[in-house]
Amino acid sequence: MTLSRGSHYLAIPGPSVMPDAVLRAMHRPAPNIYTGELVDMVDTILPDLRRVAGTEGEVAIYISNGHGAWEAALTNVFSRGDRVLALATGRFTHGWADMAERLGIRVDRMDFGRQAAIDPAAVEAALAADTDRAIKAVICVQVDTASSVRNDIPALRAAIDRAGHPALLLVDCIACLAVDAFRMDAWGVDVMVSASQKGLMTPPGLGFVFFNERAEAAREHADLVTGYWDWRPRANPDVFYQHFCGTAPTHHLYGLRAALDLINEEGIEAVWARHAALAHAVWAAFDAWGAGGPLALNIADPACRSHAVTTVRAGKENGTRLRDWVSAHAGVTLGIGLGMATEEDPASDGAFRVGHMGHVNAQMVMGALGAIDAGLKALGIPHGPGALEAASEVLSRA
Ligand SMILES: *Cc1c(COP(=O)(O)O)cnc(C)c1O
Repeated sequence: MTLSRGSHYLAIPGPSVMPDAVLRAMHRPAPNIYTGELVDMVDTILPDLRRVAGTEGEVAIYISNGHGAWEAALTNVFSRGDRVLALATGRFTHGWADMAERLGIRVDRMDFGRQAAIDPAAVEAALAADTDRAIKAVICVQVDTASSVRNDIPALRAAIDRAGHPALLLVDCIACLAVDAFRMDAWGVDVMVSASQKGLMTPPGLGFVFFNERAEAAREHADLVTGYWDWRPRANPDVFYQHFCGTAPTHHLYGLRAALDLINEEGIEAVWARHAALAHAVWAAFDAWGAGGPLALNIADPACRSHAVTTVRAGKENGTRLRDWVSAHAGVTLGIGLGMATEEDPASDGAFRVGHMGHVNAQMVMGALGAIDAGLKALGIPHGPGALEAASEVLSRA
């Protein structure tokens, strides 16, 4: 006997659940790539992407995952030997910074640990100390998908401005675009990178780089620009194939169009509000479980938690045991712990993550929480009572 048959819920922080509308939109024969529907459709996708990002600036689309978007952003802005300040709050800024180093960019890292957000005052001090203005840019993530911390980007921009420093601000929103509120222009972000497979509900394979005029001015002198990653012809193509530096990612574009239709239908503010309510329900459940056992949210301050993903510390091995149980017995896949290793838990087996991004609703989240509750009981992992009541209480008030 198994209780895992029925629709499986992939509750990991990307790829996220793909809506039927996205899958249906992709189920078609190869389209005409020279003229007609596909070409016209790309003209509708660009303004919708800008709206989701809150920018009137440009956007380049790459046939790539998020790592490709990282490299695109770096190569268009920097020259060999340039200096950047990387603000780490988990794992992903380190990955982006490592890539920058391999490109010959000099990286200064400030690490805020795996359980806290960027401290804007520390950044202000670091930039104020850079009296010859050698630092060309600040790079960070809005949400670190490993720690589930959410950084306060407007506060970071304010810190850069208080220091009177001209550094560009490059932000990775791969985990959280169309999940956590983000307003590129209003927040003074110069470059933002994202990808298709998280809040945008489309299969992995499209990377996005949004950039403003200040970033475009940096592109003018950047010596790392290459033919494929150059954002210029992609953002302002003379002919259609320049959008993608070759053949268009036809089916991904149909899928993305359908996903953007879903976002437009709901309204971006309502999308953000839905994710906020679902995240609060998840946190309420973990607070209740944690009151009587080892489970604890990785980020203590709710104001610094993402609405896209929740990282949990469950005690050595409990994360893996619980993940295995809910997958085998309840049809839910939870995310592995990433970069959460400690001396007592070198394999990071104690940590796990719940993805709640994109095409998710109240019953899916309650279902995942119910599966976790059953798993805790089945495995004899100590936990406090009332988690499901607490979660449903939050949803009832939303
Ligand atoms: C998922 C993710 C990435 C990496 O994206 P890939 O598509 O796996 O290359 C980078 N940064 C953040 C914040 C992410 O969530």
